[in-house]
Amino acid sequence: MPAVAWFRRDLRLGDNPALGAAAGADGAVVPLFVVDPALWEPASDVRRAYLVESLHSLDDALGGQLLLQHGDPVARVVEVARAAGATQVHAASDFGPYGVRRDAAVRAALAEQGIELVLTGSPYAVAPGRVTKDDGTSYRVYTPFYRAWMRHGWRDPAPDVAADWLMPVECHGYPERPDLPFALPPAGEAAALAHWDDFRRSRLAAYDDTRNLPALDGTSTMGHHLKWGEIHPRTILAELGDSAGEETFRKEIAWREFYADVLAQRPDSGRRSMDARFDDDFGWDSGPEADARFEAWAAGRTGFPFVDAGMRQLLAEGWMHNRVRMVVASFLVKDLHLPWQRGAAHFMRWLRDGDLASNSHGWQWTAGCGTDASPYHRVFNPVGQGEKFDPDGDYVRRYVPELAHLPGKTAHAPWDVLGGYDQGYPERIVDHAAERLDALERLAAMKAAAS
Ligand SMILES: Cc1cc2nc3c(=O)[nH]c(=O)nc-3n(C[C@H](O)[C@H](O)[C@H](O)COP(=O)(O)OP(=O)(O)OC[C@H]3O[C@@H](n4cnc5c(N)ncnc54)[C@H](O)[C@@H]3O)c2cc1C
Repeated sequence: MPAVAWFRRDLRLGDNPALGAAAGADGAVVPLFVVDPALWEPASDVRRAYLVESLHSLDDALGGQLLLQHGDPVARVVEVARAAGATQVHAASDFGPYGVRRDAAVRAALAEQGIELVLTGSPYAVAPGRVTKDDGTSYRVYTPFYRAWMRHGWRDPAPDVAADWLMPVECHGYPERPDLPFALPPAGEAAALAHWDDFRRSRLAAYDDTRNLPALDGTSTMGHHLKWGEIHPRTILAELGDSAGEETFRKEIAWREFYADVLAQRPDSGRRSMDARFDDDFGWDSGPEADARFEAWAAGRTGFPFVDAGMRQLLAEGWMHNRVRMVVASFLVKDLHLPWQRGAAHFMRWLRDGDLASNSHGWQWTAGCGTDASPYHRVFNPVGQGEKFDPDGDYVRRYVPELAHLPGKTAHAPWDVLGGYDQGYPERIVDHAAERLDALERLAAMKAAAS
């Protein structure tokens, strides 16, 4: 009897336990992807374009047999399973807030037809909820989570699957791929494996030294491949040894797992601050002046070179280096006094690796309202961070042409250079030292109001 393999955030054939489970019965499998309006409609053009390309790649790998359906998964999955005469639909568990609700609804609708939804594996090496303290509660701090995650361990990559692909109903075809102002990197499983292999061979050894330097190609840029499950983190972890670069890289993979775990425990934390006082009692700015500052930040025109380089990299490439993500996030929250959710929404609009758990919790970490020991009163100095992590100014000059005439680290401080503003770079929109004090006063006021 055929089974349905319902792809969601696992757009690959290799190391795919849910696909293996689907093929387990008699090897006849309907490979299904549902274009769900609840996810597609709010998705940004970047996300839509990447997804369409990844689906093309999956379809190619399936010999053109990927069954695309558009509509509510509750209706589409049931219809496809019935048409195939399947008694089981297989998928990987989804731990996001929407995915959990959707799967419960699909499970119930399938059960009414005598069909079972079987969830095997997840997009993580260790499924959210599995790593717990001795008393069974979940971790709220990364470092002990990481130690427990290492102790827990993970399975080896799953074996390859042989199956006959079936298409029992008409394919609805691809959704429209929006045009983007920049090119996306190649999508799909083959691209993910090749990209990982290239990074592992050429740059992983130096990762520990280079990952904080945004002018270098020092990180893996695997985020979008992991986001869509074009490669499983287990595949990556299986190839990591114990060198400094490999250990540090494993810790970064663990951040992704940690944030997924936190979001699964606190589904509201995708949109709301873990520390509710930051949503309810904090004196965030609003109104036309606040909006103008937000627009300057989003366009990379704050007058702070490192911040502007990061925001322009995001618009130019759909990606921003992690160090710079932290600095621009801190600037929005602590220098411009705007709630992290505004910045997170802008990131989700433009990031090709945009992911609710990592993005919302990356923002909350920086804003100081999240899980970790990142106090609100630690305010990044946008100039000092630039001078430290982009010591030669190369990153700034690459993305901010109005500063291209300034040599070396002078690109970080055009106000100190004769002719620094000759090429039209904007003046600073705020005084960092004053805004830092203002942010700390607002924090004190929030604490007083909440006590
Ligand atoms: C404000 C803010 C927003 C962020 N938004 C996202 C997001 O939407 N999606 C996203 O995947 N990451 C996000 N991150 C985390 C991190 O910046 C990116 O994962 C990383 O920059 C992606 O580039 P890379 O693949 O070259 O990373 P590498 O340094 O090569 O790391 C390898 C992988 O580890 C994971 N990883 C690394 N650092 C983190 C981290 N701090 N948190 C979670 N996972 C991590 C990612 O899957 C990444 O691809 C955010 C960080 C901040 C501070």
